[in-house]
Amino acid sequence: MAIRVRFAPSPTGFLHIGGARTALYNYLFARHNNGKFILRIEDTDEVRSTEESVLAILQGMKWLGLDWDEGPVLNKDGRIDLIGDYGPYLQSKRIGMYQKYIDKLVTEGKAYKCFCTTDELVKKRELANKEKRPPKYDNTCRNLTEEQIKNFEKQGKKSVIRFKNSGEGQTVFDDVIKGRIVFENNLLDDFVIVKSSGVPIYNFAVVLDDYLMKISHVIRGDDHISNTPRQIMLYKALGFELPQFAHIPMILGSDGARLSKRHGATSVLAYKDMGYLPEALVNYLALLGWATSDSQQLFKFDELIKKFDLKDCNSSAAIFDDKKLIWMNGEYIREKSLDEFTKIALPILQNANLVKNDINKEELENLKKILILEQEKVKLLTDLPELFGFILKDKIEYNEIDIEKFFKKDPEKTKNILENIKVEMAKLNDFTTENLESLFREYAEKNNLKTGQVFHPVRLATSGKMKGPSLFHYLEILGRKKAIERIDYSLTNFFK
Ligand code: GLU
Repeated sequence: MAIRVRFAPSPTGFLHIGGARTALYNYLFARHNNGKFILRIEDTDEVRSTEESVLAILQGMKWLGLDWDEGPVLNKDGRIDLIGDYGPYLQSKRIGMYQKYIDKLVTEGKAYKCFCTTDELVKKRELANKEKRPPKYDNTCRNLTEEQIKNFEKQGKKSVIRFKNSGEGQTVFDDVIKGRIVFENNLLDDFVIVKSSGVPIYNFAVVLDDYLMKISHVIRGDDHISNTPRQIMLYKALGFELPQFAHIPMILGSDGARLSKRHGATSVLAYKDMGYLPEALVNYLALLGWATSDSQQLFKFDELIKKFDLKDCNSSAAIFDDKKLIWMNGEYIREKSLDEFTKIALPILQNANLVKNDINKEELENLKKILILEQEKVKLLTDLPELFGFILKDKIEYNEIDIEKFFKKDPEKTKNILENIKVEMAKLNDFTTENLESLFREYAEKNNLKTGQVFHPVRLATSGKMKGPSLFHYLEILGRKKAIERIDYSLTNFFK
């Protein structure tokens, strides 16, 4: 059987972390095996499904770089096109395809119309509870005659379709990740497969779609594991060959509870806004439930495809750990070439009004010299304005605490140092890192000062903060004029 897998989200919200990981595992499995990766939108819940969510899912997948071979795609006009030979890929457009299979099950006596009303079912359930029986359907409509059915229909009574469950024996399957799973069939009743509106319920639609789309492996979250026996019963009743099932373990927050909004952002695109690179998030998600035997942490995308194997997935839950993700993001940023990093940083700095929009070539080269100073330290792209703003801004801010500590402790002496060093800086031949360093060190030695007594006030005066890149490196980039102006500004404003 050709390898064909699918990601089948219900468009009732954004693409969240759990969904993205399911999509990723399907994607990696497909690419590793030269198979096809299909995106199917399960939008039959008329109330909760929205077009906006469909778009958000497509955008989230696109940002992560998970391209699919068949399914809905965004066209240039921002509308949805469907590609592939096994469509439609929106479940709501497939309803008509199911009737044939519903009729087949009913004709073969494997499913039946049930006319019990909601009220009646509630009463049956209450009675079962009272008698301490499991609240299973009591099969009232299992053996209705043709005559009875006609009568009910004449009266305009609505019906659902129920699957006739033998209630005997076991349903057994070998999950690729969880191993053998044995399910007692008598735990289930004659469950509903088609609603009175004619819309199949999830367990039925998913079987038909997976069959019709020739899905070979169903890879999904283990919250669906309890649905699998029902689905297998339906596969068997319809005479379809079973796909392989692989249920991926849950993702938990650091407190051990199932990952939810409570733990902060769960939408994938929110991670974009928080300053993460898609490559880092993909790498991180890949390791949420999967590992190589040598516990490799950082993977190139191709390497993930090459090494990913469902058999190496954990069967127990994974914990989402922000700290590791941030570390990983920093690693990915560090790995970027300066050109790549500049390309990523530019729009962010422009957005923060630190770089103008119509930047020319020379200015871009200058920006690169600034960016290289701190590329290694960047953890999140949202840090960029804070890290580089002090060089890029015309006017920097100073905070009281630093002023007190580094200017005002010994104001006479500090003022003197700043005045002198400013004169020396003005005289310096080339304003280079090396020359600046020699100048500062010699000046300190000659005047019997600790280097910090010179370095600290100059750092504060020229950058407005005490943390940052190496003093001499950034002074060179800042340039003589700006550096001296800032020292002057400090002398005038912070010393009497
Ligand atoms: N639409 C289902 C969900 O979003 C997918 C179920 C499946 O993969 O079988 O949970």
